[in-house]
Amino acid sequence: MHITMRKARRVCVWTIAVAVMASSTTVATTAAHAAVSPCEAMQVVAHEDDDLLFMNPDIYNQINAGKCSVTVFVTDGRGEPTIRNRQRGIQDAYRLMANVSDLNNQDEWTGRLLTFGGKQVEEYVLRDRPNVKLVFMNLADNAPASGDVSIRSLWESGTAVTTTGIPCQDESGSSSCQSLVQQRFTYNHDGLLQTLAAVMGYYGPTTIRLQDTVPADPNRGYIEDHQDHVATAKFAEAATRRYGDASGTRANLVYYRDYNIQNVPENLVSWARDVKRNAFLNQYMPLNPPAQAYVNSGWTERMYYRWARGTSWVGRNADGRIQVFAVRDGEVFT
Ligand SMILES: [Zn+2]
Repeated sequence: MHITMRKARRVCVWTIAVAVMASSTTVATTAAHAAVSPCEAMQVVAHEDDDLLFMNPDIYNQINAGKCSVTVFVTDGRGEPTIRNRQRGIQDAYRLMANVSDLNNQDEWTGRLLTFGGKQVEEYVLRDRPNVKLVFMNLADNAPASGDVSIRSLWESGTAVTTTGIPCQDESGSSSCQSLVQQRFTYNHDGLLQTLAAVMGYYGPTTIRLQDTVPADPNRGYIEDHQDHVATAKFAEAATRRYGDASGTRANLVYYRDYNIQNVPENLVSWARDVKRNAFLNQYMPLNPPAQAYVNSGWTERMYYRWARGTSWVGRNADGRIQVFAVRDGEVFT
């Protein structure tokens, strides 16, 4: 079967304003087709630690190879005690994966605010490895404060609205607690899609890692996945399409199974388990003690892609010519 290569549309729709917190200045930049801050691989996850538990060692391999990695955390994880501490734990985990020296209070990171469509997100860049980046959007998770809605409700309802949290302010933090963002922002379904697509356009990833949009059925013996994981994955998938339409970049989407990997055999070799355990147990968990509940989950011994990649990506046509196939952003290219 011959499939004609899809002609990517090239339409740019977003305007990005970058607010640099230190100088309180705002630089407005209209994104052309090129990304403002190019980074080839992006992870979009619901919570701090979803990346460590379900996408590693792939993220480690990306960083260890010297490549750029940006991880976007959509919720603030308010279901576990402290927003800023979860961020700090993740910062420590990535510092370790990048083999950068540890400083007090995560001072090895440079933070600033980025503004997309009037909504601020927090960006932290590892000073000695500036192609290792973290973005925190701070939306409510499945345990929202009164008046807010969960991200699943945001996915299911076009009219639902939620409000972002403010690290340090929304918790009983110590006096040393400092957060970048000082304002709350509201999101509805389309607002989150638009902002995620704009964040993608800002970094221009060609690979986007996301969670499982259709977890295996619990009735077949798999444990149920977290509602935030599924909703975030659906937002990330839809935002990727919007990003692709705007930029012409059809990203390679890589889906990862989450909780239910504990129902299937261990599949990581020892060094990969060590990578996961060191980042999660020794760096992240001390700053988010409730994560101790996951120690015996088996997640650090496994990593599974949601969809089998297969090996039949090249074949020979009837006339003898070789033809190669690839799926990018849900479409077949050849
Ligand atoms: Zn999670």
